[in-house]
Amino acid sequence: MDLSHKVAIVTGSARGIGREIALKLAEVGATVVVTATTSAEPVAEEIREMKRPSLAVPADVSLVADVAALVDAVVANYGRVDILVNNAGIARDQLLMRMSDEDWDKVLNVNLKSVFLCTRAVLRPMMKQRWGRIISISSVVGIVGNPGQANYSSAKAGIIGFTKTIAREVGSRGITVNAIAPGFIDTRMTQQLAEEQRQELMKRIPLGFLGTARDVAEAVAFLASEEARYITAQVLRVDGGMAGV
Ligand code: NAP
Repeated sequence: MDLSHKVAIVTGSARGIGREIALKLAEVGATVVVTATTSAEPVAEEIREMKRPSLAVPADVSLVADVAALVDAVVANYGRVDILVNNAGIARDQLLMRMSDEDWDKVLNVNLKSVFLCTRAVLRPMMKQRWGRIISISSVVGIVGNPGQANYSSAKAGIIGFTKTIAREVGSRGITVNAIAPGFIDTRMTQQLAEEQRQELMKRIPLGFLGTARDVAEAVAFLASEEARYITAQVLRVDGGMAGV
Protein backbone atom coordinates (compact mmCIF):
# COMPACT_ATOMS: atom_id res chain seq x y z
CA MET A 1 0.00 0.00 0.00
CA ASP A 2 1.43 3.35 -0.99
CA LEU A 3 -0.43 6.61 -0.46
CA SER A 4 2.49 8.91 -1.26
CA HIS A 5 1.32 12.10 -2.98
CA LYS A 6 -2.19 11.59 -1.64
CA VAL A 7 -3.82 14.17 0.61
CA ALA A 8 -6.25 12.88 3.22
CA ILE A 9 -8.69 14.58 5.59
CA VAL A 10 -9.65 12.60 8.70
CA THR A 11 -12.47 14.15 10.72
CA GLY A 12 -12.57 13.68 14.48
CA SER A 13 -8.89 12.77 14.58
CA ALA A 14 -7.83 14.28 17.93
CA ARG A 15 -8.09 10.88 19.62
CA GLY A 16 -9.48 7.35 19.40
CA ILE A 17 -10.16 5.73 16.04
CA GLY A 18 -9.67 8.95 14.06
CA ARG A 19 -6.19 9.51 15.49
CA GLU A 20 -5.20 5.95 14.64
CA ILE A 21 -6.55 6.33 11.08
CA ALA A 22 -4.57 9.55 10.65
CA LEU A 23 -1.36 7.87 11.88
CA LYS A 24 -1.88 4.81 9.67
CA LEU A 25 -2.51 6.87 6.52
CA ALA A 26 0.64 8.87 7.28
CA GLU A 27 2.57 5.63 7.82
CA VAL A 28 1.73 4.54 4.26
CA GLY A 29 2.78 7.88 2.86
CA ALA A 30 -0.20 10.23 2.87
CA THR A 31 -0.24 13.89 3.80
CA VAL A 32 -2.88 14.02 6.52
CA VAL A 33 -5.11 16.88 7.62
CA VAL A 34 -6.44 16.27 11.10
CA THR A 35 -9.47 17.98 12.57
CA ALA A 36 -11.65 18.10 15.67
CA THR A 37 -13.60 20.76 17.57
CA THR A 38 -10.77 21.02 20.08
CA SER A 39 -7.19 21.04 18.85
CA ALA A 40 -5.91 18.09 16.88
CA GLU A 41 -2.48 19.75 16.80
CA PRO A 42 -0.76 17.06 18.95
CA VAL A 43 -1.74 14.45 16.32
CA ALA A 44 -0.44 16.68 13.51
CA GLU A 45 2.83 16.94 15.46
CA GLU A 46 3.04 13.15 15.79
CA ILE A 47 2.65 12.89 12.00
CA ARG A 48 5.31 15.51 11.34
CA GLU A 49 7.64 13.50 13.58
CA MET A 50 7.05 10.63 11.11
CA LYS A 51 8.44 13.03 8.44
CA ARG A 52 5.07 13.42 6.74
CA PRO A 53 3.35 16.75 6.15
CA SER A 54 0.35 17.38 8.38
CA LEU A 55 -1.99 20.22 9.21
CA ALA A 56 -4.45 20.56 12.07
CA VAL A 57 -7.59 22.55 11.28
CA PRO A 58 -10.14 23.03 14.08
CA ALA A 59 -13.66 22.45 12.74
CA ASP A 60 -17.08 21.40 13.94
CA VAL A 61 -17.99 19.19 11.00
CA SER A 62 -21.71 19.57 11.66
CA LEU A 63 -21.44 23.24 10.60
CA VAL A 64 -21.39 24.13 6.92
CA ALA A 65 -19.11 27.18 7.39
CA ASP A 66 -16.49 25.16 9.32
CA VAL A 67 -16.51 22.43 6.67
CA ALA A 68 -16.08 24.97 3.86
CA ALA A 69 -13.17 26.58 5.74
CA LEU A 70 -11.61 23.15 6.35
CA VAL A 71 -11.70 22.08 2.69
CA ASP A 72 -10.56 25.54 1.53
CA ALA A 73 -7.57 25.31 3.90
CA VAL A 74 -6.64 21.87 2.54
CA VAL A 75 -6.87 22.96 -1.09
CA ALA A 76 -4.96 26.20 -0.35
CA ASN A 77 -2.15 24.29 1.39
CA TYR A 78 -1.87 21.16 -0.75
CA GLY A 79 -3.82 21.89 -3.96
CA ARG A 80 -5.88 18.69 -3.78
CA VAL A 81 -8.01 16.35 -1.66
CA ASP A 82 -7.74 12.65 -2.44
CA ILE A 83 -9.13 10.88 0.61
CA LEU A 84 -11.91 11.86 3.01
CA VAL A 85 -12.47 9.80 6.13
CA ASN A 86 -15.73 10.76 7.81
CA ASN A 87 -14.95 9.58 11.32
CA ALA A 88 -16.19 12.29 13.74
CA GLY A 89 -18.96 10.95 15.92
CA ILE A 90 -20.61 11.24 19.31
CA ALA A 91 -23.10 9.23 21.36
CA ARG A 92 -25.93 10.59 23.55
CA ASP A 93 -27.60 7.37 24.67
CA GLN A 94 -31.07 7.20 26.16
CA LEU A 95 -34.14 5.02 25.77
CA LEU A 96 -36.46 6.55 23.19
CA MET A 97 -39.17 7.36 25.77
CA ARG A 98 -36.70 9.68 27.51
CA MET A 99 -34.69 10.90 24.53
CA SER A 100 -34.68 14.68 24.22
CA ASP A 101 -35.03 16.59 20.94
CA GLU A 102 -31.59 18.07 21.63
CA ASP A 103 -29.90 14.66 21.91
CA TRP A 104 -31.61 13.46 18.73
CA ASP A 105 -30.60 16.56 16.75
CA LYS A 106 -27.04 16.71 18.11
CA VAL A 107 -26.25 13.08 17.26
CA LEU A 108 -27.85 13.29 13.81
CA ASN A 109 -25.97 16.52 13.06
CA VAL A 110 -22.53 15.38 14.21
CA ASN A 111 -22.79 11.79 12.96
CA LEU A 112 -24.78 12.11 9.72
CA LYS A 113 -25.16 15.71 8.56
CA SER A 114 -21.37 16.04 8.84
CA VAL A 115 -20.96 13.18 6.37
CA PHE A 116 -23.22 14.97 3.89
CA LEU A 117 -21.42 18.32 4.39
CA CYS A 118 -17.87 16.97 4.19
CA THR A 119 -18.55 14.65 1.26
CA ARG A 120 -20.30 17.38 -0.73
CA ALA A 121 -17.41 19.77 -0.05
CA VAL A 122 -14.69 17.41 -1.35
CA LEU A 123 -16.52 16.21 -4.46
CA ARG A 124 -15.50 19.14 -6.66
CA PRO A 125 -11.72 18.71 -6.18
CA MET A 126 -12.05 14.92 -6.39
CA MET A 127 -14.06 15.11 -9.61
CA LYS A 128 -11.47 17.44 -11.12
CA GLN A 129 -8.75 14.93 -10.22
CA ARG A 130 -10.90 12.02 -11.43
CA TRP A 131 -9.72 10.15 -8.34
CA GLY A 132 -11.06 10.03 -4.84
CA ARG A 133 -11.75 7.88 -1.83
CA ILE A 134 -14.59 8.57 0.60
CA ILE A 135 -14.72 6.31 3.63
CA SER A 136 -17.27 6.85 6.38
CA ILE A 137 -17.25 5.24 9.79
CA SER A 138 -20.67 3.76 10.43
CA SER A 139 -21.23 1.10 13.13
CA VAL A 140 -22.64 -2.41 13.47
CA VAL A 141 -25.33 -0.67 15.51
CA GLY A 142 -26.51 0.89 12.23
CA ILE A 143 -27.03 -2.64 10.91
CA VAL A 144 -28.45 -4.54 13.87
CA GLY A 145 -29.73 -1.75 16.19
CA ASN A 146 -29.07 -1.30 19.91
CA PRO A 147 -31.47 -0.35 22.73
CA GLY A 148 -30.78 3.17 23.99
CA GLN A 149 -29.21 4.26 20.72
CA ALA A 150 -32.13 5.26 18.47
CA ASN A 151 -30.38 8.51 17.51
CA TYR A 152 -26.94 6.92 17.05
CA SER A 153 -28.15 3.85 15.14
CA SER A 154 -30.34 6.00 12.86
CA ALA A 155 -27.36 8.19 12.01
CA LYS A 156 -25.10 5.17 11.42
CA ALA A 157 -27.74 3.45 9.25
CA GLY A 158 -28.13 6.75 7.38
CA ILE A 159 -24.41 6.66 6.56
CA ILE A 160 -24.93 3.30 4.87
CA GLY A 161 -27.75 4.58 2.62
CA PHE A 162 -25.74 7.72 1.87
CA THR A 163 -22.67 5.66 0.96
CA LYS A 164 -24.55 3.44 -1.46
CA THR A 165 -26.22 6.43 -3.13
CA ILE A 166 -23.10 8.57 -3.54
CA ALA A 167 -21.14 5.57 -4.82
CA ARG A 168 -23.66 5.42 -7.67
CA GLU A 169 -23.51 9.18 -8.25
CA VAL A 170 -19.72 9.48 -8.56
CA GLY A 171 -18.48 6.04 -9.63
CA SER A 172 -17.90 7.17 -13.22
CA ARG A 173 -15.52 9.89 -11.93
CA GLY A 174 -13.02 7.49 -10.39
CA ILE A 175 -14.28 8.06 -6.86
CA THR A 176 -15.08 5.14 -4.58
CA VAL A 177 -17.42 5.52 -1.61
CA ASN A 178 -17.45 2.94 1.18
CA ALA A 179 -18.41 2.59 4.82
CA ILE A 180 -16.78 0.70 7.65
CA ALA A 181 -18.96 -0.69 10.41
CA PRO A 182 -16.83 -1.23 13.51
CA GLY A 183 -18.12 -3.40 16.30
CA PHE A 184 -16.98 -2.97 19.88
CA ILE A 185 -13.72 -1.01 19.73
CA ASP A 186 -11.72 -0.10 22.83
CA THR A 187 -11.82 3.73 22.88
CA ARG A 188 -13.01 6.51 25.16
CA MET A 189 -16.51 6.13 23.66
CA THR A 190 -16.82 2.49 24.80
CA GLN A 191 -14.89 2.99 28.04
CA GLN A 192 -17.91 5.03 29.15
CA LEU A 193 -20.12 1.91 29.08
CA ALA A 194 -21.06 0.27 32.38
CA GLU A 195 -19.05 -2.90 33.20
CA GLU A 196 -22.24 -4.97 32.98
CA GLN A 197 -22.93 -3.64 29.45
CA ARG A 198 -19.33 -4.38 28.42
CA GLN A 199 -19.57 -7.99 29.64
CA GLU A 200 -22.88 -8.46 27.85
CA LEU A 201 -21.41 -7.14 24.58
CA MET A 202 -18.31 -9.33 24.89
CA LYS A 203 -20.51 -12.43 24.87
CA ARG A 204 -21.73 -11.43 21.40
CA ILE A 205 -18.28 -11.28 19.79
CA PRO A 206 -17.31 -14.61 18.16
CA LEU A 207 -13.60 -13.71 18.21
CA GLY A 208 -13.93 -13.11 21.96
CA PHE A 209 -12.03 -9.85 22.29
CA LEU A 210 -12.49 -6.14 21.74
CA GLY A 211 -11.22 -4.57 18.55
CA THR A 212 -8.65 -1.79 18.60
CA ALA A 213 -8.62 1.52 16.79
CA ARG A 214 -5.74 0.07 14.79
CA ASP A 215 -8.00 -2.72 13.44
CA VAL A 216 -10.30 -0.06 11.99
CA ALA A 217 -7.39 2.02 10.69
CA GLU A 218 -5.99 -0.95 8.74
CA ALA A 219 -9.33 -1.38 6.94
CA VAL A 220 -9.49 2.34 6.14
CA ALA A 221 -5.97 2.31 4.68
CA PHE A 222 -6.88 -0.62 2.45
CA LEU A 223 -10.07 1.02 1.16
CA ALA A 224 -8.09 4.23 0.52
CA SER A 225 -5.45 2.42 -1.52
CA GLU A 226 -5.12 1.77 -5.23
CA GLU A 227 -5.44 -1.93 -4.42
CA ALA A 228 -9.11 -1.31 -3.48
CA ARG A 229 -9.93 0.46 -6.75
CA TYR A 230 -12.75 -1.95 -7.68
CA ILE A 231 -14.48 -1.79 -4.30
CA THR A 232 -17.28 0.74 -3.91
CA ALA A 233 -20.71 0.98 -2.23
CA GLN A 234 -19.56 -1.55 0.37
CA VAL A 235 -20.06 -1.75 4.11
CA LEU A 236 -17.06 -3.50 5.62
CA ARG A 237 -17.70 -4.83 9.11
CA VAL A 238 -14.68 -4.75 11.44
CA ASP A 239 -16.44 -6.35 14.37
CA GLY A 240 -14.92 -9.72 15.30
CA GLY A 241 -18.00 -11.33 13.77
CA MET A 242 -20.37 -9.52 16.14
CA ALA A 243 -23.10 -8.62 13.63
CA GLY A 244 -23.23 -12.15 12.18
CA VAL A 245 -24.05 -12.68 8.51
P1 NAP B 1 -13.95 9.30 20.40
O1 NAP B 1 -12.77 8.69 21.04
O2 NAP B 1 -15.00 9.96 21.24
O3 NAP B 1 -13.42 10.38 19.33
C1 NAP B 1 -14.31 11.16 18.57
C2 NAP B 1 -13.53 12.21 17.80
O4 NAP B 1 -14.48 13.03 17.09
C3 NAP B 1 -12.72 13.12 18.68
O5 NAP B 1 -11.51 13.46 18.06
C4 NAP B 1 -13.62 14.36 18.81
O6 NAP B 1 -12.84 15.47 19.11
C5 NAP B 1 -14.24 14.41 17.42
N1 NAP B 1 -15.50 15.14 17.32
C6 NAP B 1 -16.60 15.03 18.10
N2 NAP B 1 -17.54 15.87 17.68
C7 NAP B 1 -17.03 16.54 16.60
C8 NAP B 1 -17.53 17.54 15.73
N3 NAP B 1 -18.74 18.07 15.87
N4 NAP B 1 -16.71 17.99 14.74
C9 NAP B 1 -15.47 17.50 14.59
N5 NAP B 1 -14.95 16.54 15.37
C10 NAP B 1 -15.72 16.08 16.37
O7 NAP B 1 -14.72 8.27 19.49
P2 NAP B 1 -14.21 6.91 18.77
O8 NAP B 1 -14.60 5.78 19.61
O9 NAP B 1 -12.80 7.06 18.32
O10 NAP B 1 -15.20 6.88 17.51
C11 NAP B 1 -14.81 7.35 16.22
C12 NAP B 1 -15.91 6.98 15.23
O11 NAP B 1 -16.09 5.57 15.21
C13 NAP B 1 -17.28 7.58 15.57
O12 NAP B 1 -17.95 7.93 14.39
C14 NAP B 1 -17.98 6.43 16.25
O13 NAP B 1 -19.37 6.55 16.17
C15 NAP B 1 -17.44 5.27 15.45
N6 NAP B 1 -17.55 3.97 16.13
C16 NAP B 1 -16.91 3.74 17.31
C17 NAP B 1 -17.03 2.48 17.91
C18 NAP B 1 -16.34 2.15 19.20
O14 NAP B 1 -16.54 1.03 19.69
N7 NAP B 1 -15.53 3.03 19.76
C19 NAP B 1 -17.79 1.50 17.30
C20 NAP B 1 -18.43 1.76 16.11
C21 NAP B 1 -18.28 3.00 15.52
P3 NAP B 1 -13.41 16.77 19.87
O15 NAP B 1 -14.25 16.29 21.01
O16 NAP B 1 -12.20 17.50 20.26
O17 NAP B 1 -14.20 17.50 18.83
